[in-house]
Amino acid sequence: MHPDRGEPLHARQLLVATGRRTDFAALGIGAVGLDESARDIEVDEHLRAADGVWAIGDITGRGAFTHMSMYQARLAAADILGTATDPAQYHAVPRVTFTDPEVGAVGMTEAEARDAGLTVRTAVTDLAASTRGWIHKVGNAGLIKLVEDADRGVLVGATSVGPQGGEVLSALAVAVHAEVPTHTLRGMIYAYPTFHRAIETALDSLA
Ligand SMILES: Cc1cc2nc3c(=O)[nH]c(=O)nc-3n(C[C@H](O)[C@H](O)[C@H](O)COP(=O)(O)OP(=O)(O)OC[C@H]3O[C@@H](n4cnc5c(N)ncnc54)[C@H](O)[C@@H]3O)c2cc1C
Repeated sequence: MHPDRGEPLHARQLLVATGRRTDFAALGIGAVGLDESARDIEVDEHLRAADGVWAIGDITGRGAFTHMSMYQARLAAADILGTATDPAQYHAVPRVTFTDPEVGAVGMTEAEARDAGLTVRTAVTDLAASTRGWIHKVGNAGLIKLVEDADRGVLVGATSVGPQGGEVLSALAVAVHAEVPTHTLRGMIYAYPTFHRAIETALDSLA
């Protein structure tokens, strides 16, 4: 059944993603004053969960990714050692699904940006229609999608699907993380004929 429309769906393959949950009761986190019935361990911007207790990774509910665990571990270790660090930021979390084509995304989806009340402009460009897509031929399917906060003139999210979609994502991750103005992104030079040139095409069609 289609989850939204209640209609039968026909497909040749079915991917079942069950997810994973931590058994906090089995870990006995109540002993350090944490809620064993909670879905995630609540942490502050320095990953502090309770007095003398830090938590990082999947259990913080900020995204079940190895890079999230490593990022938080760096901040927590610095805090434990008393080294000043910037607080944790989660506005530009990248994620890559290693399918064919590879799907990379960073920051907010269009729906999340609209739900947050932002004035949203979006653009989608077809990777196959780009010069590099034409050169690549078979397997060139893909797209670049941009989600802009039009009031601030910065990208708040982006998706990169296609050959090496996770690598193309890196430029977009920098843009979202550093809140680079879209005007500045439009003014830079994109190497020819790369897949990431499709970002420039997408910037031209933000609407
Ligand atoms: C099949 C699969 C593929 C994945 N692919 C990707 C990917 O491509 N990219 C990506 O970013 N993420 C991927 N992930 C997610 C990634 O593995 C997790 O987000 C990441 O490992 C979380 O790190 P963590 O430190 O929170 O927990 P973990 O890496 O799970 O580490 C927890 C550790 O605690 C130990 N432990 C548990 N209970 C106890 C106990 N009672 N006492 C002592 N030690 C204990 C465990 O043995 C484990 O070593 C994948 C996950 C799965 C399952």
